[in-house]
Amino acid sequence: MKPRAGSKALIREINEALVLDVVRTQAPVSRATIAAYTGLSPASITGITNKLLQQQLLVETEIERGTGGRPARLLELGSEGVFAAGVRLSATEALAVVVDLRGGVVATHTEPFDSTTPDRAAETIATAVAAAAGSKTGKLIGVGVAVSGVVDQASGVVRHSGAMEWADVPFQGILEQASGGPAAIDSYVNAYARGLLFDGSFTGRDLLVISVGTSLGAAVVVEGRIQRGFNGAAGGFAHTRSMTDGGPARPCHCGADDCLETYGSLWGLQQELQRSGSNRELDHDADSPLVADAAVHLGIGVANVAKVLGPERVMVGFAPEARLGTFAEKTTAAFLGQFQHSNTPPPGIDTVTTDHAAVARGAACSVLEGLFSARESARDSQPEGLQPARTA
Ligand SMILES: [Zn+2]
Repeated sequence: MKPRAGSKALIREINEALVLDVVRTQAPVSRATIAAYTGLSPASITGITNKLLQQQLLVETEIERGTGGRPARLLELGSEGVFAAGVRLSATEALAVVVDLRGGVVATHTEPFDSTTPDRAAETIATAVAAAAGSKTGKLIGVGVAVSGVVDQASGVVRHSGAMEWADVPFQGILEQASGGPAAIDSYVNAYARGLLFDGSFTGRDLLVISVGTSLGAAVVVEGRIQRGFNGAAGGFAHTRSMTDGGPARPCHCGADDCLETYGSLWGLQQELQRSGSNRELDHDADSPLVADAAVHLGIGVANVAKVLGPERVMVGFAPEARLGTFAEKTTAAFLGQFQHSNTPPPGIDTVTTDHAAVARGAACSVLEGLFSARESARDSQPEGLQPARTA
């Protein structure tokens, strides 16, 4: 069989990604170790590492080895070669971060805006990224944007975002036009999960990440990969139906009634406050029956999902504005309460505060991923064109 055109370049790209990934996970690392991990010949390793050194994607570091002998030349990721931008988009602002190849945040900029039309949002993102990147703009390999809601990452379409009031918006394309470069979109929670996976801080295979903020979200990690589902619909537990308490129906912004979103999200809590005629703001210090009720619904909802998936860990990330009284503690208690009669012990559960920058950073990490996993990105979730152009 004749190899298809470009397959040599593709193989080179895959091998570069393999090398970069070994350096990322093992650094500082010798060329011999890279050869052992990748199975590539010493000559190939020399060729690839020389090229990556030239591009500043790798740098050499020297450390003394044992006694006497010459210092070994070890390699680690370069922090000056390329950068990626990540943005957390909300209805009022675009928070942009710029990260280096190691995922370290090197710059941040917040750009406010007053209209949630897709065009205006895309322009604001471009402005925020340019302001954050400054002189590094020429070294940006792409921008990842996290949007609250259901995002079909593969086709670049925001299916539904209550916060932005969007339905079926082809935002990736709009963004690429506005920014003039490759872009990728994802949901808040998937972007955050991407950041966790990029760091390697979760070493298991199966993880459930829940986000609690204006909306609810879930990222489903199976065998180390984020599951997308058909049309990006995986993780949509915000719009599963919650058990009602016999009170009046709670209409959800998705069009249904009594979704978990109407009980456990900040949006749902605000709606309930308004409905009860209270003009009070949600109180961040004191506990209220409303928050206690939200925690019970949320804890049960998370337990239901966990029982289906059987993850090793469940991580519930509360946005800073959702740290209301003992909301997190009560959610954990409600979750654990659902496992009292279970045949299997509950998965480990952590509650953390997910600051907004962590979501933006995760979106940037999803752009970086393309450099470390050429094969993964081809069949998984990276939109085409996200990988930076590599010269043959
Ligand atoms: Zn709903």
